[in-house]
Amino acid sequence: MELQPRRRMSVLAIIPAAGMGLRMGSGTPKQFLSLDGVPIFVHTLRKFSHSDAIDVIYLGVRPEEMERVRQALASEHLAKPVQLVSGGVTRHETVAKALEAAPPATELVLVHDAVRPFVDLEMINRVADAARRDGAAILGIPSVDTVKQVERHTIVGTLPRERIVLAQTPQGFCYSILRDAFARAGSEGFLGTDESSLVERLGINVTVLMGSDRNIKITKPSDLALARLYLAQEAESAKA
Ligand code: C5P
Repeated sequence: MELQPRRRMSVLAIIPAAGMGLRMGSGTPKQFLSLDGVPIFVHTLRKFSHSDAIDVIYLGVRPEEMERVRQALASEHLAKPVQLVSGGVTRHETVAKALEAAPPATELVLVHDAVRPFVDLEMINRVADAARRDGAAILGIPSVDTVKQVERHTIVGTLPRERIVLAQTPQGFCYSILRDAFARAGSEGFLGTDESSLVERLGINVTVLMGSDRNIKITKPSDLALARLYLAQEAESAKA
């Protein structure tokens, strides 16, 4: 009897894109702002859709923006299936809802901010490989600034800079670890601004891989100028 190759369990990318983008001050949520005629979240989806490490993408969007997103995706013909999930009032809740919708046969989950369109295939691969090997892995970059802890306007501590990394996404986890982390956070009423903070609370080691200065989270108006420059550079190197 011929043995069938074992089907690989699936690797899911969760892309939270349900924020309001208030810090941008543009009235339009930042993930919908256009870069070279294409919404930022679509640039991000293109990267994940091109990655061999990813099988399916779950995109968290606000219910009132579902139709707009569906229309934007209809003309995109992405290589990977994109499942739309209704987002929550916080990033944490958006990711939790996408995770609840994940199929039980999921092996790995990579979570990535919709507003970080300059992630590249190599970063996605490295995080997926390390998450598969270690259970939990994120990208981080050293801080060039000295980081202070404050209460109101007064410094209460200085963190040793050589021990600081600034966390980026993608953040990758074995599905069972991430599910347990969200369950524990839910029962303890903890809300995280990234997934690693939830996993750390389980006492599980999270590997940090070198991220990139280019992997910016488009947040403020000044980020858009940098984003246009990076996009032009990406287009140049694609031509070369
Ligand atoms: O709020 P922050 O800048 O950290 O947002 C990071 C990502 O989380 C963005 O892509 C944003 O759209 C998403 N987000 C979300 N649901 C929320 C708030 C933020 O999906 N309620």
